[in-house]
Amino acid sequence: MSQSERFEIEKTAGPSTQAGGALRFEGVAKRYGEFMAVNSFNLSIAPGEFLTLLGPSGSGKTTLLSMVAGFQSVTEGDIYLDEKRLDTLPPEKRDIGMDVQNYALFPHMSVYRNIAFPLRMRKVRQDKIEERVKTALELVELSDQRDKFPGQLSGGQQQRVALARAVVFQPQLLLMDEPLGALDRRLREAVQFELIEMHRKLSTTVVYVTHDQVEALTMSDRIVVLKDGVVQQIGSPKEIYQTPSNKFVATFIGNSIALDGVVTKVDGITCQLKIDNELEFTGVMTNEIRRGDPATLMVRPERIEMTADLHVNNLKALIVKRIFMGELTRYTVQLPAGKQLEIDQPNTRGRPELENGSQVSLVWDREDAVIIT
Ligand code: ATP
Repeated sequence: MSQSERFEIEKTAGPSTQAGGALRFEGVAKRYGEFMAVNSFNLSIAPGEFLTLLGPSGSGKTTLLSMVAGFQSVTEGDIYLDEKRLDTLPPEKRDIGMDVQNYALFPHMSVYRNIAFPLRMRKVRQDKIEERVKTALELVELSDQRDKFPGQLSGGQQQRVALARAVVFQPQLLLMDEPLGALDRRLREAVQFELIEMHRKLSTTVVYVTHDQVEALTMSDRIVVLKDGVVQQIGSPKEIYQTPSNKFVATFIGNSIALDGVVTKVDGITCQLKIDNELEFTGVMTNEIRRGDPATLMVRPERIEMTADLHVNNLKALIVKRIFMGELTRYTVQLPAGKQLEIDQPNTRGRPELENGSQVSLVWDREDAVIIT
């Protein structure tokens, strides 16, 4: 029997198994003394959704998760799980799976006993424990490591045991706070894909905390971008990346070239920006902008083509530095007004290498330019 077939059976096997819960925040705020860590937070998370809270250090991500888990009280507002008030329940009654960075495994217990622990606490029958742990071990592909102790496992394996322990009791809701933070890049990516696959199989609702934008883009159905306890944008990874709602989101997620200017014309959802009192560009607006407003034009580097053809009517620049990086070349170009930009160009077939010191045109499609304030 395949792993996914086994899980299908688990998922439909009885009353203890259920799909993810719906989580809802209504006007949630958290104050530590005078300090407002989270400000009027409103969000509905759909059953089975993978939602990521993304933001720099101190933006309130862990505080939000702690209020759901019950480790922190809510100062204002309500939290509901499947329309049942959650924030008034004691933590142990919430029945939520947790996987947080450095949420240590019990060093004196085998892998098997670590994973069985939440089931023992819930007084699950021994034969059921055996069955569930076996399935969880298969899910994280550690069946052959069940008798080892945490100290005998690699970092990635330990992480996977922690994951198995968090999901073994089939929680409706799984909270994950930087669970991959301690892993190196290669392992991180491997476990990321395992997590996506596992989420697909279990359809548990996941609230995931990270400050790593690539991780957020890769894994999430939706992302909430936070700064200083205030929501900056809520959207799919594509929406957040392609149409950031403000400069903070645009610069926090992904690279982009950014050119400051003044808005000269507004027309529906597009507007025109004059840069360095000279060149005018059109772009899509993602928030309200009026004529005369200072604004920034932003284009993702992979949407820019650098060409030696200077007849193209667009931004001209001088290549001042060139670094070959394998699949791409990173060019530093200088605009006539002196500003320097870094632009990566993929070294794909047919794309000529551009010489250091040469003049180039930077070309992009109008719809790939976003104008934000
Ligand atoms: P990081 O990515 O560094 O974990 P975060 O986005 O998870 O950051 P939080 O840990 O939620 O941020 O903290 C939000 C703000 O609240 C920070 O300014 C932090 O200093 C403050 N804070 C967090 N916990 C407490 C506490 N127990 N008492 C007082 N202030 C706190």
